[in-house]
Amino acid sequence: MTVTTKWIIIAIVLLLMPAAASTYVLLSPKRHWASDPVICVKSPGHTSIADSDKGITATINALNGSGGWNDTSVGLVLNAVSTTANNSPCSNQWQLGDGQPTIAFDEVIKGACSGTCLAATFISFYDCDPVVNGFCEILDADVLTRKNRADKSGGPYYSLSESGSPQQCTPGKEWNIEAIMVHEVGHVLGIGHTNVSGATMYPSVSSCNPNGTTIEQDDKDALNALY
Ligand SMILES: [Zn+2]
Repeated sequence: MTVTTKWIIIAIVLLLMPAAASTYVLLSPKRHWASDPVICVKSPGHTSIADSDKGITATINALNGSGGWNDTSVGLVLNAVSTTANNSPCSNQWQLGDGQPTIAFDEVIKGACSGTCLAATFISFYDCDPVVNGFCEILDADVLTRKNRADKSGGPYYSLSESGSPQQCTPGKEWNIEAIMVHEVGHVLGIGHTNVSGATMYPSVSSCNPNGTTIEQDDKDALNALY
């Protein structure tokens, strides 16, 4: 078994960049989960989300919903659960390489998500011995989110489930947590960044953009290629 130990981070950034029409990109080497992963969403939520439980619940609903990665054309590919209820197999740990994909609404590793980064997925835990039907096997993938920035009031995250949302979102200062996590879980599943503007796996998102909590055709095509 060969497992790379160097951290490779794929992050979603906040700048909106122009892009040429293209298509989805799979992570290289091509890899997927051998069985549907349970993805733990770690409590507590990010401090910028007024009601952390709502933000976690909304994220879980977006991840598990049929408009998300569990697309009806592909079927069930993941099951997101909250650590709040101590659901098996989740504990309150976030640990790289432990085989349990976990989302933390927190910058678990300080400095791992800086500059324009909003959230990052660690994608370096996989096994290519053997390659089965052209795929390496993903062993783990964990997501962290950036902490509040000192120069941003309230941000950088808001949930669509927060009261008053989306009015609660401050332009230029807050980004939708559900959409960001649907994007990051695309990386967890083995998908890279696309050049297709408007696709969930596009590498950047504008503030207060409520889109992206569901996947688009380009994302579905990537999912179909992997599962
Ligand atoms: Zn990304």
